[in-house]
Amino acid sequence: MKIHEYQARNLFRKYGIPVPDGVVCHSVEEVEKNVPNDEKLRVVKAQVHVGGRGKAGGVKLAKTKAEAVEKAGQILGMDIKGLTVEKVLVADAVDIEKEFYVGLINDRNTKSITLMASAEGGVEIEEVARVSPEKIIKMSIDPVMGLMDWQAREVALQLFDDPKQMRKAAAIFVKLYQLYKETDSSLAEINPLVLTPDKQVLAIDGKMNFDDNALYRQSEILSMREATEDEQKEIAANEKGLSYIKLDGNIGCMVNGAGLAMATMDMIKLYGGEPANFLDIGGSSNPQKVVDAMNILLSDSNVKAVMINIFGGITRCDDVARGLVAALKNIETEIPIVVRLSGTNAKEGLEIIREYGLPNVSTMKEAAQKAIELSQK
Ligand code: GDP
Ligand code: MN
Repeated sequence: MKIHEYQARNLFRKYGIPVPDGVVCHSVEEVEKNVPNDEKLRVVKAQVHVGGRGKAGGVKLAKTKAEAVEKAGQILGMDIKGLTVEKVLVADAVDIEKEFYVGLINDRNTKSITLMASAEGGVEIEEVARVSPEKIIKMSIDPVMGLMDWQAREVALQLFDDPKQMRKAAAIFVKLYQLYKETDSSLAEINPLVLTPDKQVLAIDGKMNFDDNALYRQSEILSMREATEDEQKEIAANEKGLSYIKLDGNIGCMVNGAGLAMATMDMIKLYGGEPANFLDIGGSSNPQKVVDAMNILLSDSNVKAVMINIFGGITRCDDVARGLVAALKNIETEIPIVVRLSGTNAKEGLEIIREYGLPNVSTMKEAAQKAIELSQK
């Protein structure tokens, strides 16, 4: 689960990481109402779940309230990497002497939480990692001991010459680690962490992701969830026992089992198509699940054909076929559907499918090719 920058800033504050003040506004009127009429330098920032907002024009400085209102008007409604800006953060701006990067991730190679830091702050860290990986300092953290002060200082010493600033930064690293651990985070980034001309060390951007599987015990974090339309669909699917991830292609996939779902997506790509989603309906043959899954697939207007790929192990193909036919009778759609059934009672299942009038395919390859062909008509 992702949260917005303003929410990450609230968590930072709660853990004692210094952050400039700000207010979140959903409209120009709210900026009018909430921002004091003074000459303070402010920064108006798009709140969307993607990085690189600055480059996209979603971060703008404002010298007066009138300018803040104007910039908010430009940013609200803007499209950033496919996401519409619905709120802005209007925060006190700071003068920047130097920008740093700080991040915590679950590092699969070292199987530990890893602190990353760099003097190349402000720019996207993926870019630094690609162009000059040696400029990223990494410190693996022992899961029992946690991030110890001396380790934090060892990293901070490589970024700051001045001992006072170094200690401030090290204290921030330790607090960020506490926050990361206590909230079951999977990513916590401060980019940039800045040094101001008056030698304060402040977080002026924050990005945090959380482990979805831990949300059941993170009620405060869960209450911060602001899902996009696509994410809302994914969450709704989850509540119905389906694992659904939306993708950008035009062939909807409905599959039982995550491995088969991946193989189906690969197959579609292999023959030149693009999957519109990952969708695992799980092991049951409950017709309601099929109806739910079909509704989800067809609610995506990109979908031009649907490929259903079922392997009957415990699930019986004839049950699935009956569920499918029942579902299709309830759904009015012009979208072509291709069904491939294999395994337990596949023959009986295919008979039901054929009777209903859907294309006759037997292998995964045929199904993928047929779905692609039909999607292009
Ligand atoms: P991102 O592009 O989505 O990562 O958004 P950031 O919040 O990191 O802002 C992008 C860039 O805008 C930063 O790297 C800074 O260079 C600049 N910026 C953001 N806030 C301030 C501020 O308060 N003062 C100044 N001078 N620049 C800022
Ligand atoms: Mn940033």
